[in-house]
Amino acid sequence: MTTILDGKVASAAYKQVITEEVSQLVAKGKRPPHLAAILVGNDGASETYVASKEKNCAQVGFNSTLLRFDESISETQLLEEIDKINKNDDIDGLIVQLPLPKHINPDKMTDAILPSKDVDGFHTFNAGQLSKNMDTFIPATPYGIVKLLMHYGISTKGKHAVVVGRSMIVGRPMSILLSSSNSDYGNATVTLAHRYTDNLADITKQADIIVVAVGIPLFLKADMIKEGAVVIDVGITRVPDETKKRGFRLDGDADYDKMFDKCEAITPVPGGVGLMTILGLLDNTLKAYKAKHE
Ligand code: NAP
Repeated sequence: MTTILDGKVASAAYKQVITEEVSQLVAKGKRPPHLAAILVGNDGASETYVASKEKNCAQVGFNSTLLRFDESISETQLLEEIDKINKNDDIDGLIVQLPLPKHINPDKMTDAILPSKDVDGFHTFNAGQLSKNMDTFIPATPYGIVKLLMHYGISTKGKHAVVVGRSMIVGRPMSILLSSSNSDYGNATVTLAHRYTDNLADITKQADIIVVAVGIPLFLKADMIKEGAVVIDVGITRVPDETKKRGFRLDGDADYDKMFDKCEAITPVPGGVGLMTILGLLDNTLKAYKAKHE
């Protein structure tokens, strides 16, 4: 029988632990962890993600601050705003919601965040630490995915994992984690595929675990996986759909319905990786707080 890797169930269990830890801190008279988010412009998907992050912060007892800026803000102005938060001792973690308007270089912004407040784990320093298998902020999506695998007791040791997509926020760090020597979620043999990979289906058919993060709805078809594969679907694309009240539906990168029976386990979209990503962010914020206070 196929296991649904339910992000709602797994994240609720982890959030319960964070909530208890925060309530103990507050009972001792300490301030709770505090996450700040910068949102530039009014991209619909970004608005949804940021609102969800704020809601989740409130659920576990964190403080959160949302700083909104018009999309005409210059790079220099945005760097000044990041610097203010870097210097604010009451804020433990800062994220700059991506994508940013075209005239703003996202790498320049993420590298302006203090590495100790970089709870998205996108700073070059933290990415370097991750690649050296050092303790650091793991980017929230791959972090959430390994926590999801751990929650459902899915072992990665000795498995062939194929990660499709090599972005610095999902695919690349995912491949590093799965191939690391970490006994909880590493020790897999990893193939990292991208748009220039030849004969992708031949490779994915050999995979025990597939993480697909390309941003193309229903990209991974049922005939591209083997019987008993574990499929982790990272993709979330808004597809116009007039039958829906809001005018669109959310599609993943995997053809969930058609491959379901073939899988040992699979994540739904929505309700899978997205919720675990937020959990990863909460965990990183607590880590930043503790590093400062302990
Ligand atoms: P991205 O930066 O656009 O990267 C997409 C990757 O897919 C690239 O490495 C690209 O290869 C690869 N790719 C594109 N077409 C391909 C093809 N035909 N065959 C094989 N590889 C192909 O995207 P991202 O930021 O990683 O996000 C991917 C998806 O995950 C999006 O739908 C995004 O919305 C979603 N996402 C979800 C969460 C969540 O919390 N659930 C978090 C982050 C992202 P090249 O490098 O060769 O161009």
